[in-house]
Amino acid sequence: MLAGGPIGRFAPSPTGRLHLGSLLAAVASYCQARSKLGKWLVRIEDLDPPREMPGAADDILRTLEGFGFQWDGEVLFQSSRHDRYAEALAALKQGGHVYPCACSRKEWSHLPAYPGTCRNGLPARRERKLDRFRLSGRLQSWPDCFRGEERFDTATMGDFPVLRADGYWAYQLAVVVDDRDQGVTEVVRGADLIDSTPGQMDMWSALSTQEGAKPIPEYGHVPILQTLSGQKLSKQTLARPIQVEEASALLDQVWRLLGQSDSEVWKEAVNRGDPQHLMSLAARLWMPERVPSNPIQLQGWGQDDRL
Ligand SMILES: [Zn+2]
Repeated sequence: MLAGGPIGRFAPSPTGRLHLGSLLAAVASYCQARSKLGKWLVRIEDLDPPREMPGAADDILRTLEGFGFQWDGEVLFQSSRHDRYAEALAALKQGGHVYPCACSRKEWSHLPAYPGTCRNGLPARRERKLDRFRLSGRLQSWPDCFRGEERFDTATMGDFPVLRADGYWAYQLAVVVDDRDQGVTEVVRGADLIDSTPGQMDMWSALSTQEGAKPIPEYGHVPILQTLSGQKLSKQTLARPIQVEEASALLDQVWRLLGQSDSEVWKEAVNRGDPQHLMSLAARLWMPERVPSNPIQLQGWGQDDRL
């Protein structure tokens, strides 16, 4: 790798097997990093045991290998990082970026976002249920790798949990701490996570103040895949898992969904049927400016459109 090359990552949760939407995000993050001779990391986000599926982490890694992905270094498992998250939480508390909250979701579910009830201290005779991150209230904007300028006003968003009422670490905290510690410089993921980005940028800045400055990564959000009825493909909606036996055909499908050029050299590689060769070619041919920004509807992958 060239000194100063980008560091990207793919960070699935082991709540089920990879589906076409996960493959799309994996291909985009891989190509975005590798096309600039950067590193590509894999991280397993296993912080929610009740939602996890036994064997899914191994299955995901074997599937990635079968699709020709090669990652740098060891796979990081978030379940091995509890001490580090506790340390980051303490640093955020020390800086006044986190506060205890007594509210249950029921109390504010009629509102568009958590209203900040406990921002200035717990209400009388109420006990802490969880810890929340205090958003800056600033406008956050970034030049998205695929969508152009994105802009969110964090003043209209709700402070989000960092330590959940059930005692589990919240996704937001773990993601930001890991991306910082792993030196990630570009976060490429599905557009379903775009609402998380401004808050994560806020948290990144807060941790930079508390634990040492690191530049905020670049962000790129790829289109989500939907069924014809508009349901997002996800493990929760029982999207059909991808099979290694179909690797070349599915990489070809994802390549075209990502708006990439169906050139002769690409077609020849698809016919050759060697996923590893396809992925290294993909990194060389990658054109981020061709990635579409609207959700993509397709048939045959969701629970509601197959027999
Ligand atoms: Zn509260």
